[in-house]
This record gives sequence, C-alpha cells and structure tokens, in this order.
Amino acid sequence: MEPKNIFKKASRRQVLGGLSIGVVAAQTVPVFAQQTSTPANQQVTPNQETPNQETPNQSVKQNPVKQYPSPPFSQQPQEPPGLASKMIPRPDHGETSYQGSGRLVGRKALVTGGDSGIGRAAAIAFAREGADVAINYLPFEELDAREVIQLIRAAGRKAVAIPGDIRNENFCNQLIANAVRELGGLDILVNNAGRQQSVDSILDLTTEQFDSTFKTNVYAMFWLTKAAVPHFSPGASIINTSSVQAYDPSENLLDYAQTKSAIVAFTKSLAKQLAKKGIRVNAIAPGPYWTPLQVSGGQPQSTIVKFGSDSPMGRPGQPAELAPTYVLLASQESSYATGQVYGASGGSGNP
Ligand code: NAD
Ligand code: MG
Repeated sequence: MEPKNIFKKASRRQVLGGLSIGVVAAQTVPVFAQQTSTPANQQVTPNQETPNQETPNQSVKQNPVKQYPSPPFSQQPQEPPGLASKMIPRPDHGETSYQGSGRLVGRKALVTGGDSGIGRAAAIAFAREGADVAINYLPFEELDAREVIQLIRAAGRKAVAIPGDIRNENFCNQLIANAVRELGGLDILVNNAGRQQSVDSILDLTTEQFDSTFKTNVYAMFWLTKAAVPHFSPGASIINTSSVQAYDPSENLLDYAQTKSAIVAFTKSLAKQLAKKGIRVNAIAPGPYWTPLQVSGGQPQSTIVKFGSDSPMGRPGQPAELAPTYVLLASQESSYATGQVYGASGGSGNP
C-alpha cells in the first residue's frame, strides 16, 4: 500500500515560518504523563498509566524493565508515515531527559527522519552535545518536525528544516546541498529515514511497495551518502539505521528485512572504502522501539497491542534509549569504530 499522505507539499517558507516556542513547549512536555482518552476500538485494557513505571531520567539508577511503559498498548492505527504526537503513550525522545556534555561541539549534522522516533532522539541529543542540526522529513510530518526544530534551538544550536521525499535522487542531492549551505559544512550524516509496511504474503506484496521500500531505505542512503562524501573531511561520521530484521527477519516484513540487510552490507563495504579518508561508517540495528513507523502499518494492530513483549525486557525500547549510541558513533570517542553494527534490541542477541 502506498502511503497516502506523504506527497503533500509544504513550501520552505511554510516550513521555516511560524515556529512558535509557546506552541512547541506545550507539545513537548513528557510523554507518559500526558495520556488522554482511550480509543474506542481497543481490545485490551491498555497500560496507559503504567503504575509501576519509574522515571525516564537516564542519570538515575533504576530498574530498566520498569523505566518505560510495557504492553499491553491500545490499538492506534495511523496512516503512514504517522505522527509521534498522536501516539499513546507518546514516545520519549529525550525531550526532558537527555543531558549533553559537549561531545559534538561545533559539529554539523544531517539526520533523515529527524522529526520523530529514533531520528528525533538523535537530533535532540546531537544538539545538546553542541552540534548544529538539519533534519529531513516528509511534509506531512511538519507538526512533529516543528517540535524538534524548537528543541534544537532551545539547546542554543542552529536548526535547519528541509522537508521532502528522499525516494527522489534529485531531491537527495538538493537535501545535501541545502544542508551544507545552511549549516556551513557537514560532519555527520545519519541515514535513518525508513519505510516499513507489514504484508503477510509474498502474493500480496506489490512491485510498487517493494520499490518504495527499497527507494526509501536503500537507494536514498546511497544517493545521500554519495552526495555528502565530497563535503566530508577526516573525522566525519556516517551512521545508518539498520534493524534486528537484518539478522532475524519476520515473515511479514519480506521487503523491509531485505533492505535492512542491504544497509549492513553497504555499511561494511563503504567503511573499508572510506577508512583511508578518515571517514567512519557504522550502523545501528534496533530491536522493537515505540515509534510512528510501527503503529502506521509497520506492524498489524494486533501486534501493536503486545509490542515489545517478545523482548527479554518485556517492553519496547524508547527512542531516548538509543540516542547515546548515535552520539557515541558520531563523536571522536569512537575513533576506532568503523564498519561496525551496534545492536540495540533489549536482549534478543542480535546482531
Ligand atoms: P519514525 O516513523 O519515527 O521514523 C521514520 C522516518 O522516516 C519518518 O519520520 C519519516 O520522516 C521518514 N521517511 C519515511 N519515508 C520517507 C520518504 N519517502 N522521504 C523522507 N523521509 C521519509 O520511526 P523510527 O522507528 O524511528 O524509524 C527510524 C529508523 O529506525 C528507520 O530506518 C527504521 O527502519 C529503523 N528501525 C526502527 C525500529 C522500530 O522498532 N521502531 C526497529 C529497527 C529499525
Ligand atoms: Mg515521523
């Protein structure tokens, strides 16, 4: 199924204009305290309050199993690409918890899919570590993107919003050119945008879907990286978001799982090619994380209800729990890490 909303256009003026700190501040208050109404179509009692939940603050020693919400969750279908701001409970991207310590001062980063989920968590963390950050997303996601832009600015860093569809090579070239121009260079590229639509049978998997998933997850990574490399100097870092699906593919994610394997091979091959230039290339392979990708067709709603229950932690990860890994791979601290795939799947053992 082709996403319905993702071709809606927003001009650059619309995107950059009208960003109100007041509006965003109201939208970015932590996530788990904000549970509201219960969807009418739920089939189980959702764990919206998570009574035994501890604090999302990552500087406080606590039981990680209880740190964030566990299933059951309510069914909550959205059209792809979905919005984090409509999720129940809202994901934690580190809005109120991530504390920087100057690990990326002066760096310039582009994060695709930086409006929500894992990309948003990386964008917030990068800014609080001292980086200027450009984010790419689809025009439909403007509401989520505005929150991120305000959070980057609140960290005292330059924020650049560049919406557009990365399935188009020309746009990918423009995206890199605009990011370099607006940021004054580029040191960190996070190829994180992704498309995931669950289809049970190969007989129902259309060429259109197969093509769209590969364009988003694989071709765009190639186009963006190719355009970015000439702008890099030694010390630059490329981080690609793969998945546990590269190692343990689900039956309903036939096209998606292949793209995530391709990302691993791309990462390892390119790392060898670019090592001599002093450019590092790594990947992160998350397990189940609570993001719009999953509730907007990435999984059937029957799986959303129990999302994360198969993990040894018994719950999905929150994007905030991945941010430190993106920071580590972006920073000079991981100077000997290239061609690596960092697993982050709550104990399932992959990669
Ligand atoms: P998400 O929905 O918050 O982020 C995905 C983003 O991809 C969207 O915000 C959107 O901006 C972007 N995108 C999709 N199609 C696009 C297009 N055509 N043009 C431009 N942007 C486009 O969900 P997420 O889970 O944070 O996803 C981020 C990455 O993490 C993806 O690569 C996904 O495959 C990967 N991942 C997620 C999980 C998980 O459980 N959530 C697990 C493993 C890997
Ligand atoms: Mg999004």
